[in-house]
Amino acid sequence: MNDKPIYVTSPLLPSLDDFTSSLKEIWESKILTNNGSFHKKLETELATYLKVPYLCLFTNGTLPLITALQALRITGEVITTPFSFVATTHSLWWNGIKPVFVDIDPNTCNLNPEKIEAAITPRTTAIMPVHVYGKPCDTERIQEIADKYGLKVIYDAAHAFGVEVNGESILKTGDMSTLSFHATKVYNTLEGGALIVHDEQTKKRIDYLKNFGFANETEVVAPGINSKMDEVRAAFGLLNLKSVDQAIEARHQVAIKYRTALQDITGITFFDDMPNVRHNYSYFPIFVDEEKYGMTRDELYFKMKEQNVWGRRYFYPLISTFSTYRGLESARPENLPIATQMANKVICLPMHHALTPENIEKIISVIIKK
Ligand SMILES: *Cc1c(COP(=O)(O)O)cnc(C)c1O
Repeated sequence: MNDKPIYVTSPLLPSLDDFTSSLKEIWESKILTNNGSFHKKLETELATYLKVPYLCLFTNGTLPLITALQALRITGEVITTPFSFVATTHSLWWNGIKPVFVDIDPNTCNLNPEKIEAAITPRTTAIMPVHVYGKPCDTERIQEIADKYGLKVIYDAAHAFGVEVNGESILKTGDMSTLSFHATKVYNTLEGGALIVHDEQTKKRIDYLKNFGFANETEVVAPGINSKMDEVRAAFGLLNLKSVDQAIEARHQVAIKYRTALQDITGITFFDDMPNVRHNYSYFPIFVDEEKYGMTRDELYFKMKEQNVWGRRYFYPLISTFSTYRGLESARPENLPIATQMANKVICLPMHHALTPENIEKIISVIIKK
């Protein structure tokens, strides 16, 4: 019964032989970091793959958030979502910015644009939404509000690698977008990330900021940080880029199987694909309605665990409940009823390119047989 554990994700890995060849090249060049040839090549290839003009590689997905806020000189208050990974809000905190939580839309789990305006104050300078589970935010509506109030928009697009709307990259929206290439994400460089900007000048500035503020050998133009990606991880990323489309298609097939099997289960709901969107199937959240399903979310979650099926309760608890943030006025659960509700219902099922038909069958059977 309790055979091998089925984890929520499994990292995309290149062939070890290919990676060894890359390592040999690095050993021979003796260039390990500081915008070496693998770094340059990965920036170019990723920009092409993602259909964006300018992309800056980073050492993880949190530092581009922190750096974007610095680059745009964001201060005061920023409107954001409590339904995300903590790094979103932590990036504000590290910049001395007060996060203002706004509730989410139950149909997407993304920041609800209709609730943004009520949270704007004279101190608001930006909006930081998240494309949760890779589902695109209502970027048009968010931009309208930003334009009306003169706010910047920084998207945490950590989940949205390769996501497109009407054939256009979602990363082209807002003032900047960030990606994470952490091992658990759809596309990984072990650890890694990127900041997507829309013009050459801004790219230059970001490249200074991620390298201590150095504009050249002797000139430091800003209090920058060190968040450069090294050659080993860039080489790893170049190899993984070759198979990421295949991995996304494999995830798509898993999503189809889950949807077919779970559609008739009373009390379990999930998201359908959105029209005109190229999804990346980064996560497969299900929502458990305790009354209708006859079991609480946690009961199902722990029962899955007992059977060696490791889901994750993303995003529970809400960021707004953590000690750093819970004292904020906007963190009160009454202000965030939908986010609170969704956080209490969600389980992300195992979702990755290497799930076997037997794995999927087992996961489904645990949910079906109560
Ligand atoms: C993973 C993630 C991050 C942080 O990325 P790291 O590469 O782990 O630093 C930020 N925001 C969201 C929404 C994430 O899921």
